[in-house]
Amino acid sequence: MPPALLHRCSRCGTYTLKEVCPSCGGPAGSPHPVRWSPEDRYQKYRRALLEEPPPRPGPP
Ligand SMILES: [Zn+2]
Repeated sequence: MPPALLHRCSRCGTYTLKEVCPSCGGPAGSPHPVRWSPEDRYQKYRRALLEEPPPRPGPP
């Protein structure tokens, strides 16, 4: 079983522990490329929530 930190180059497919491919310099990420992730959708909302503080219920 590969370690969790193992990345795979999206360009040439080389496995590396770094985020940049040592052989071609391409971006290396998760061995299982995710084109659509529900997390990304939530990230958008999460970021929006972080940038905009939620309205606090205060005294009228
Ligand atoms: Zn590469």
